[in-house]
Amino acid sequence: MTKTKMLIIGVGGLGCPAALALAEAGVDTIGLMDPDKVEISNLHRQILYSDKDLGRTKVEAAGEYLQKHFPKTKTIQIPEAFGVGNAEKYLKEYDLVIDGLDRLEKKFFLNDWCVKLRKPFVHAGVVKFEGQVLPVLPGQTACLRCLIPKIPPPFAMPTCQEAGVLGSFSQAIGFLQAHEALRLAGGEGPFHLWKVDIQKRETRSIIPGRNLDCEACGKGKVEDQVVEGFCAS
Ligand SMILES: [Zn+2]
Repeated sequence: MTKTKMLIIGVGGLGCPAALALAEAGVDTIGLMDPDKVEISNLHRQILYSDKDLGRTKVEAAGEYLQKHFPKTKTIQIPEAFGVGNAEKYLKEYDLVIDGLDRLEKKFFLNDWCVKLRKPFVHAGVVKFEGQVLPVLPGQTACLRCLIPKIPPPFAMPTCQEAGVLGSFSQAIGFLQAHEALRLAGGEGPFHLWKVDIQKRETRSIIPGRNLDCEACGKGKVEDQVVEGFCAS
């Protein structure tokens, strides 16, 4: 792990626990990308922040925490939103990407860019009582669009902030996401899609097949797919 550079896009309910686990594991460099500031509603699930961080940028507060507790891990603070203007620049600087984004349409945007640049990444999402994690090795394993072919309309799905989520559950999914990132970095396949339902107390994992007609990684590939609708903004 010593030479690995990982970029965490979205340092919230998933990105905070993922960052902590990756620093504990000795990842050499962790990029933290998020334009938001710490709000009081974040504190129950975003474990790198406390009252004293309210109003600070998340990347500054998270970077300071990680530097204090894991001085051997280098952190890079990027207080920017991930978008068309900076996606290629930042993805190319890192070996692996953690999707800590909050909206499904942004996750598709990240999926399409990572597939386009052949950048390994780990998708994760949590809404209310359900969570999922999908490590993706572009061109070799199923991507998010293989599983969900059509991007939902902007704001069609609630974020965990809107729908509500248990802090302990989003943290569990973030730690699982970091675990899969470490396996992906180590080439330890096979790579499973994890689905967890905390209310039904069910955990399932499968190796999803690729969709040969996938518009991101298959025959249905659409050039510049990534610059559509919401994602162009
Ligand atoms: Zn695909």
